[in-house]
Amino acid sequence: MRFCSIGSGSKGNGTLIQHGDTCILVDTGFTLKDVEFRLAQKGLTPLDLTAILVTHEHSDHIKGVGPLARKFRIPVYCSHGTSLYDGLGNIPSLVVFDSHEPFDIGQLTITPVVVPHDAREPTQFVIHDPDQKKLGILTDLGSLTPYICEVYDACHGLMLETNHDVQMLRLGPYPPKLKVRVEGPLGHLNNRQAAQLLNSINCDNLQFLVATHISEKNNNEAIAIDALSNGFSWQKDSIIMATQENGFPWCEL
Ligand SMILES: [Zn+2]
Ligand SMILES: [Zn+2]
Repeated sequence: MRFCSIGSGSKGNGTLIQHGDTCILVDTGFTLKDVEFRLAQKGLTPLDLTAILVTHEHSDHIKGVGPLARKFRIPVYCSHGTSLYDGLGNIPSLVVFDSHEPFDIGQLTITPVVVPHDAREPTQFVIHDPDQKKLGILTDLGSLTPYICEVYDACHGLMLETNHDVQMLRLGPYPPKLKVRVEGPLGHLNNRQAAQLLNSINCDNLQFLVATHISEKNNNEAIAIDALSNGFSWQKDSIIMATQENGFPWCEL
C-alpha cells in the first residue's frame, strides 16, 4: 500500500491510501476545485477514488466531502455521529459504519478508533492491506488512552498529530477560549503527547513517521522534531513533516 497527504493542518486535511485499484481519501477539508487540483498533484483524479472516509465533522475535514461525493458519485463512510452533521448534505451513497468494528473497502481493511475530541463521534483509522502492512492515521485528539496506544502498536506507517508546543500555544496569538480548547483533553495532541505515544508503542516495523496537523502559529518544525525524537531511536532527518500547502509525497509500504 502507499499513502500521501494532499494537505494537513487546521485549514484543510486529506489523506490518500492506495493498494491496487482501491484508493481511499480520508477527509476532504478543501473546496471542490482545490481538491481536484491537489489530487492532480499526486497523479490522481476524483474518478480514481473508491471511497471517502470522514473522521469527524470539523470543517477542515468535511468541507469538500459533500460536493466531491455528489459530483463524482463517490461513496462516503463515516460514524453514526458524524452522519448526523447537517452540513454533509445529501450524499448519494452513505455508509454508516460501527465505530467499534473493522470493515473492508476493496482490498483494504479499516479499523475505526474512537478518539477524545470535541466532535459528535470522531474516529481515526488503522488500515491493513492484504500484505499485512499496517498504516495508522491519528489526528484531532486531545489526549491518549491505553486503548489508543494498543491499537496503534507496531505500525509500518504512522501519521501522527503533532499539533502544538504547549509553551508556544500559551504565549501565542490565539484568543484565550481557543487556547483552552486546543490544549484541553478534547482538543489537539501536543508535541510531548505525540512523543509519549511513540515511546509507548512498538516502533520496530516503522518505515515512515509523519508529523501531521501541525499548527502554523503554535509550533515549528525544529521544536516538533526535537520533541518527537526525545527518547525515541529515530533519525531526526527521517521524520516527515506534513504541510498545509502540499501535505507530503507518496510513501510506499
Ligand atoms: Zn482538524
Ligand atoms: Zn477536529
